[in-house]
Amino acid sequence: MNSLRKLDIKFVKGIGPQRAELLTRQLDIRTAYDLLHHFPSSYVDRSTIYSIRDVGADDVAHVQVRGRFVSFNVLGEGAKTRLVGLFTDGTASMEVTWFKSIKQIRQSLRTGTDYVLFGKPGMFNGHRQMVHPEVDSFEVAASRQGLQGVYPLTETLRTRNIVSRQFRTWIQTLLDSRKVFAETLPAATVAALHLMDLDRAIREIHFPTSPVALRQARERLKFEELFYIQVDMLRRTRRRRMLSEGHRMPRVGRYFNSFYSTCLPFDLTGAQKRVIKEIKADLNTGRQMNRLVQGDVGSGKTLVALMAMLLALDNGYQACLMAPTEILAGQHYETIRELVAPIGVNVRLLTGSTGTKQRREIHAGLADGSLHILIGTHAVLEDPVQFNNLGLAVIDEQHRFGVAQRARLWKKNDRPPHILVMTATPIPRTLAMTVYGDLDVSVIDELPPGRKPVTTLLRYDEQRDDVYRGIGRQLRAGRQVYIVYPLIDENDKLELRSLTQGYEDICEIFNNYRVAFVHGRQKTAEKDYQMQLFVSGEARILVATTVIEVGVNVPNATTMVIENAERFGLSQLHQLRGRVGRGAEQSFCILMSKYKIAKETRERLQLMTSTTDGFVIAEADMKMRGPGDIEGTMQSGIPFELNIANLATDGQIIQQARQAAETLLDDDPELEQPANRAFRTALSLAIERSADWSRIS
Ligand code: ADP
Ligand code: MG
Repeated sequence: MNSLRKLDIKFVKGIGPQRAELLTRQLDIRTAYDLLHHFPSSYVDRSTIYSIRDVGADDVAHVQVRGRFVSFNVLGEGAKTRLVGLFTDGTASMEVTWFKSIKQIRQSLRTGTDYVLFGKPGMFNGHRQMVHPEVDSFEVAASRQGLQGVYPLTETLRTRNIVSRQFRTWIQTLLDSRKVFAETLPAATVAALHLMDLDRAIREIHFPTSPVALRQARERLKFEELFYIQVDMLRRTRRRRMLSEGHRMPRVGRYFNSFYSTCLPFDLTGAQKRVIKEIKADLNTGRQMNRLVQGDVGSGKTLVALMAMLLALDNGYQACLMAPTEILAGQHYETIRELVAPIGVNVRLLTGSTGTKQRREIHAGLADGSLHILIGTHAVLEDPVQFNNLGLAVIDEQHRFGVAQRARLWKKNDRPPHILVMTATPIPRTLAMTVYGDLDVSVIDELPPGRKPVTTLLRYDEQRDDVYRGIGRQLRAGRQVYIVYPLIDENDKLELRSLTQGYEDICEIFNNYRVAFVHGRQKTAEKDYQMQLFVSGEARILVATTVIEVGVNVPNATTMVIENAERFGLSQLHQLRGRVGRGAEQSFCILMSKYKIAKETRERLQLMTSTTDGFVIAEADMKMRGPGDIEGTMQSGIPFELNIANLATDGQIIQQARQAAETLLDDDPELEQPANRAFRTALSLAIERSADWSRIS
């Protein structure tokens, strides 16, 4: 396989320099290796011939039809010149159109002869149409059987007459010229998992001999990709664990114990207890902790963070907690200060708007160790603060927090502090394994008792009056209400206008209540002021954009109306909804939408009304939109570009790859055994091709 990486495709028989350049430009195929790894995106059963009558306009797949041309016409002028053949099979007819190579094509085809066309059917001006299909004489077509690969192509390639057939020919040539592709995976792995060997898999994926063999080939190739990722990631994690010394924190002392016995306003949930135990164990290993705590909105992550920080204090260290916004940092500060007041912990808040005098005090307190817990925004990182002895850093809602920023924490201290990352973005386990592969993951999968699940309703614009009546009832009962508008583009005048209009309408309809108004274009001070009006309860309604998405805690707010809900992604709706249902009262989330929406959109909104489980929603979101869109998860990215595996749907293979990677590295941590030599080379080549991802610490 390795020599193929060096073979320029222009030397592959039938390609030549011109086509080679085109393939490189259009599909980034440079070498024979790349060509062999340009896998079909689908397969057609070439033994099936469709009736033109049955070929629909919505067919996404390629189909094969058999018939005769009745006529040919050259239409249009200049750049718009095209050749249109009328093709019929007796059941119906279709227009077959060519925009390029018109002359050659016209000369090679004749009316009244049987042809088999292969292409993607469409509709044009009310007629069935096929553009630049593959055309074969009936005899040639009849000699073909079974599954045939359809290769991903671009429009440009198609118009230059480079279609699946060429790929098949070139790839066949390459396959014929090689006796066997040497196996790259460790023999033990192949044997243990009964994987198809590489040589067979490459041949089967291009030229399947049966559907079963094709499936096995695809599984093998997906596994290989995911296995590289897992081995690479695990190896890094293990090395880091070996090397990075961490602060040892064996003691559970006064702070933790007295907080637990006297300050805790409620019992911890079982999940909170379990995660605290996991953290406690990490802190005592002598290695640096890197733990991600995932917990759905409202699952009580703040408390877990606080108790971890108290453990650090008990061992003579300082701790800090960072949040992505001033509002959140402020809320954490208020909550935590109040909770720990009785046990004499010194907590301070540092944000961009902290004054010079206070800042100076904070610096002094951090340097001499009298300040125990610092809470802040990323200002903490930009600030020239130096800790006396920082033992633990907690990062809340990390996807708003750049990885580079995370790394900057290291410089605050001689020895890196333990890191605890908290996220409410419920990432499916399989994705977490890959995206956060170097972090240990804890999950708080239980909500505090007594919470009533939020009732979610889907309402259309026509029902707006009803919705307002409901809001009125909540307000009269003393509750608070969120009204959320999508403002995807802060610079979009139209969107801003509908937001402002919405605000004015609400002020008018509910004119005996104060209404706060928050959006991303406001200055920070204004935003904080407005937000504070709502947090304090002075304003009973908050009209806002998604700036409120993360973390804000107003238990008295029991209703959220989301306008144009169809424009939000599932995970985002879930985050928003998490702002209500934080108190003992029954809460409501009303998704407002136009009546006319696409079927998938309606399904998406209906899923929201039927479940409040963040993980179910995240899985669904990922299946619908692909993992790349899940907010924040790609910030750290995955190390290799995936060619055939799919993070959204190949969860089982990811798990398999993970386990196999563990087994392999347990046995041969640095891949030094002769049996693993080929794999080691393949892995380092894969790493070489990938973007540098050493930035993940
Ligand atoms: P999140 O995980 O979304 O950050 P918070 O930490 O803000 O959640 O907690 C949400 C609310 O639940 C807070 O008001 C908090 O005081 C409360 N809470 C946390 N843990 C418990 C518990 N074990 N029992 C009852 N309420 C709890
Ligand atoms: Mg939180």
